[in-house]
Order: sequence, then structure tokens, then C-alpha cells
Amino acid sequence: MKVEAERNVKKMDAAATPAWSVLPDEWKEMLVARGLRAFRADQILHSLYRDYITDWDQATTLPKDLREALKREFPITPAEEVACDESPDGTRKLLLKMGDGELVETVVIPVYAKGEGGEMVRLTQCVSSQIGCAMGCAFCASGANGLVRSLRADEIVAEVMAARKYGTLTNLVVMGMGEPFANYDETMRALKLINAGKGPNLGARHITLSTCGVVPGFARLAAEGLQFELSVSLHAADDRLRDELMPVNRRWPLAELMAACRDYTLKTKRVITFEYTVIAGVNDSRACAEALARRVREVPMAKVNLIPLSPVEHRPDFRTPPEPTMKMFLDVLMKNHVQTMIRRSRGRESQAACGQLRLRSARRVAKGLETKGKGEESR
Ligand code: SAH
Repeated sequence: MKVEAERNVKKMDAAATPAWSVLPDEWKEMLVARGLRAFRADQILHSLYRDYITDWDQATTLPKDLREALKREFPITPAEEVACDESPDGTRKLLLKMGDGELVETVVIPVYAKGEGGEMVRLTQCVSSQIGCAMGCAFCASGANGLVRSLRADEIVAEVMAARKYGTLTNLVVMGMGEPFANYDETMRALKLINAGKGPNLGARHITLSTCGVVPGFARLAAEGLQFELSVSLHAADDRLRDELMPVNRRWPLAELMAACRDYTLKTKRVITFEYTVIAGVNDSRACAEALARRVREVPMAKVNLIPLSPVEHRPDFRTPPEPTMKMFLDVLMKNHVQTMIRRSRGRESQAACGQLRLRSARRVAKGLETKGKGEESR
């Protein structure tokens, strides 16, 4: 042990790396490069992702001098839960405080077996990839105040760690605040870690990324060779309307977006799900539904999730469509042989619906907590 410690002291003086951002193979390489035995990596991973330590002192299988070195160089960075709103359906919105005091929301959504006292059969967590968002979609509360900053990989992992106490996660969706493809490296590192067998070990097919259409992200994701699920927020099937609803369309118009989706599917053989939020009087006509069906059929195997708009404070003119409109959309898509589902937001009572995680309410809940001013990022 002494030998290990001496070698550590010499070499472990680089800038600190958060422990929750290091992938299993990287631990091994790093330890071996420092003259430590490879099995230490397994002990470290076991402590982090089986014993769920939040302080290296709890890693009692490790020699003390190694623990000290880890403390200095690989700090564990849990987020502090400062509020938890629970809806009657069991959905919980957690408000987490990051190391710099910024607040991040994540939502935990349980599904129970039918019948009295039914057991929890699924637990989906919706995580944020950024604080605020620079994309500026008209109907989305997350971007209403612009981007504050991106989250680091360990902060995204910290969201998952903070939700552990509410049950064992079965599904993860990156559909909280932020645009994952605008924070690609950190988001992907977090997801790879969450997916790792020696990490939290959540199956890749149970992890879904959602993008508003940041085109370069598609080829990057395809090149990873991973089995993550991909959703694409479409919301309009013609450029004129999509330009208006989603400024990202002005940079990457539909022709480019659909080509990227098609290439992604052809390369990965993986199904893309298009999300279409239906907004009364805006994108809800039969012609819109037909245009959507035509667009989606440009991409082999693609599916559609229809989502009735959740009203947002900053756009009182945007309203939830009546039920027959949702049915009409469903009919048109089905007639066009597009596999379609109507998805309803959960936890509306606590404003926990995906895409509705908002800083402003977070600030309200966290009364008295100091938060930084919001920065705008221009694209
Ligand atoms: N930036 C990514 C991740 C956010 S996912 C993306 O755009 O895909 C959140 C999903 O909820 C997106 O499909 C988003 O368009 C949708 N959404 C946002 N605001 C909404 C609202 N008010 N009602 C219904 N869906 C909304």
C-alpha cells in the first residue's frame, strides 16, 4: 500500500476530475499508468456504483492513502436536493443544487401495475442536459430565459444519483431542460457511464436522447455505435411554420434534418421517434397531419409520438388542442401506415411535464436560494 501511495503523491497532482465523469476503462488505464493494480478500478467502481458512496472515506476497501489521493484528484460531486414536489400520480420533480449554486430540475415518473396497491413496474427519469436552453422554441418554457450554462457529465450523473432514493431506475430520457446535441460530449459521457456495466448499468435501449434537430449530432451519434434510442422534436412539417416555432430550423431546415434522420436510420438500423406537439390553431390542421405523415415516411421505420401542448406561461396564445384534433392526427398517420402514439404529459400538477422544467418556477420553489443571473447565448 505504501508503494501505491508514494507513486500517487508524485503523479496525482493534475487538476481534479469529477469521479462521476470517469468511465470504467479510464479508471483502469489511469490506475495502471500510475503504477497501481488494475483491481483497484473494480473496487473504486463498486464503491461508486454499488455502494453509492458520496465521500471517499466511505470506500473502506481502499487503502487510506489511495482514498486521500482520490479525494484530492477525483472528487465525488453529489447534487443537493433542495425541493421535491410530488404529484398525485406519484411523479416527482426534484430541484437540485449544483456545486456552483445553479438549480437543475429532474423528474422521476413511476408506472404502477394496475389494481389496488400495484407495484412499481417502471421508473423513468427525465434529466436535464443544460441549465436553460439556447434553442428558443416558441412553445417551450425551458428556453424562455435563454441558456445559463451546459451541465458537465458528472452533473448529469448527479441527477441520476439524486433520484436513486425514489426507486430503481428502469428508463432514462434526456428530455429535461436543454438540448443534448448542443452539449454533446458531456451528455454522451454521462450516458455512457450510466450505461456501463460497472457503472449504474442501465441498458442502452432504456436510454433515450431527444433533439430539436441539431443536425451534426446525428452523424456523431451514429458513429458511436451505441444502442441509445433517439427522438427528434419535429412539431411542424413545413419550413415556414417550423422556422417560426423552432429557430433551429433556420439553421438546419427540414430537408437537411430529414436527410440526417434517414442517414442515421440507414446506418444504425435504429428507429427514430418523431415528437409532434400539437398546438391548437397553429399546427393542428388536417393538412398539417398529412404533411407530417409525408415527412415521416421519408425516414424508414420512423414512428410518431403526438403530444398535446402543455400550456406555458410565456405564450398564453398557445392552447392545448381538443381531443378530436388529437384523434384526427392519429387517424391520418395510421392511414398512412405510420406507427403513432398519443403521449400525455405526467405530473402536470407540479408543472413537471417534460419540456416544462423551468428555471423561474425552480427559483420560486427554492425561495431564498442564491442563483446566478441568466446568460443568453447567441447561436
Ligand atoms: N431539446 C430537446 C430536449 C427537450 S425534450 C428537444 O427539443 O427534443 C422536451 C420535449 O418536450 C420536446 O419534444 C419539446 O419540444 C417538448 N415540449 C416543449 N415544450 C412543450 C410544451 N409546452 N408542451 C408539450 N411539449 C413540449
